Amino acid sequence: MDVLVINCGSSSLKYQLIDTDTEKVMAKGICERIGVDGLFTYKPTGGMAIKKAEFDMPTHTEAVQHVIDTLTDPENGVIESLDDIAAVGHRIVHGGEKFAESVIIDDEVIKEVEECSALAPLHNPANVIGIKTCMKLMPNAPQIGVFDTAFHQTMRDYVYTYAIPYEYYEKYKVRRYGFHGTSHSFVSKRLAEVCDIDLDTSKLIVCHLGGGASVTAVYRGKSFDTSMGLTPLEGLAMGTRSGDIDIGAINYIAEKEGMSFEEIMDMLNKKSGVLGISGNSSDFRDLWNSRAVGDERSGLALDVFCYRLIKYVGAYIAAMNGVDAIAFTAGIGENDEGVRQRVIDKLNYMGVFLDGEANQARYGKEVRISTPDSKIPVWVIPTDEELAIARETAALLK
Ligand code: ADP
Repeated sequence: MDVLVINCGSSSLKYQLIDTDTEKVMAKGICERIGVDGLFTYKPTGGMAIKKAEFDMPTHTEAVQHVIDTLTDPENGVIESLDDIAAVGHRIVHGGEKFAESVIIDDEVIKEVEECSALAPLHNPANVIGIKTCMKLMPNAPQIGVFDTAFHQTMRDYVYTYAIPYEYYEKYKVRRYGFHGTSHSFVSKRLAEVCDIDLDTSKLIVCHLGGGASVTAVYRGKSFDTSMGLTPLEGLAMGTRSGDIDIGAINYIAEKEGMSFEEIMDMLNKKSGVLGISGNSSDFRDLWNSRAVGDERSGLALDVFCYRLIKYVGAYIAAMNGVDAIAFTAGIGENDEGVRQRVIDKLNYMGVFLDGEANQARYGKEVRISTPDSKIPVWVIPTDEELAIARETAALLK
């Protein structure tokens, strides 16, 4: 079945058309700068890529319309008509406590996703726009919602409860939710497969290290703990996000600088993390390059990132009373041998050692990076959130 996967941001829309029988991507692309000056890209598998700048896309409606027109275009398209799209799978960022699984979207679901918008004000409204637009333009195709938070709904109360007055949970559902769930679920399943471990009895750790980064402890196939919280700001130091920080420090800075709460949130989300420490870049390639020519703050940013990652891995080994396998995934996890090396070197105490040659791995390759005689295997497992969404969509319709 041909499934259109849609990932809507506030001014962007990523899409992939996937044949779920063969799991082949038929075409993919991205509409960017929606409502600004419109940038449209399209790449049919095996065909010529199309890029249109200054393309008229005032809203997501025109963007989706153009995606459909291009997919069905006689010359560059990959399907004959709109009816070939059997279903649309939508990535939805925050499902709150309402959604522990993917769902077929109806008006009630849209209302509930809108209610979760308070928890993800930058993301959920955009997701809803994408859903409504697809419903309008493809009224016959079922729309499926796949939530970033759903996989983590198995966390126990003592894992997700913040140590603040309980009434804030009761009144506003303030608690830890976790994100990147589609990726953590996909990668943990694959990790168990490649290691020939029974997922239902296993203890796994997945490090999803991209622009946003999170670590998840997956116990018996279910999320046991994860480093992000109510929002994707908690946990690891990230590209531009601070991760864990003493709120007292925030109060102190706000007073000293006369910053408003909005300015503080902007600083913590967009100007912090490795970018904030280095003053150089949020991209790890830049940081390693600058460090190599003596830029100490780029080196410090890498040290902070790796140290906190190591602490989370160690904490999750303790939380699960052991670990059977570890995976690295996403942009940094799949490409950055330096980060991976630092983590594995801190696992020598438990008999885990780095295979230096295998650790040269780059994008798109599944590879074991621990030595064959290591006590537990460590792998690079490329994530594929779109494929995971397409699979969920097809499974739900069957
Ligand atoms: P997003 O979370 O935005 O989807 P990705 O998972 O694609 O991001 O990760 C993007 C990040 O991956 C970049 O910011 C960069 O830091 C890192 N990255 C990409 N390629 C490499 C590489 N070859 N070496 C080190 N880091 C890389």
